[in-house]
Amino acid sequence: MLARNDNRTIFCCNIEGCGSTFTESHNLKGHMRAHNGIKDQFCSMPGCDAAFTRRSDCTRHERNKHNLLPRRKRESKTPSLN
Ligand SMILES: [Zn+2]
Ligand SMILES: [Zn+2]
Repeated sequence: MLARNDNRTIFCCNIEGCGSTFTESHNLKGHMRAHNGIKDQFCSMPGCDAAFTRRSDCTRHERNKHNLLPRRKRESKTPSLN
């Protein structure tokens, strides 16, 4: 039933009713994590135990809940000369 895509291996989600296919195994793994609800992206704020399946959700939480700004380039602080 799968269309053969030359010699590319197709990774198939075996959850019934899903049928998603991937060409990279890590993509399938990430997809399966969403099925399993595995949350391995943790909020970086000490004392906060929020966890997320997606890094982007975690980042958004950090921003909204803790007002953490996304990391920027270091601002060049002019050293105060005494
Ligand atoms: Zn799936
Ligand atoms: Zn948090």
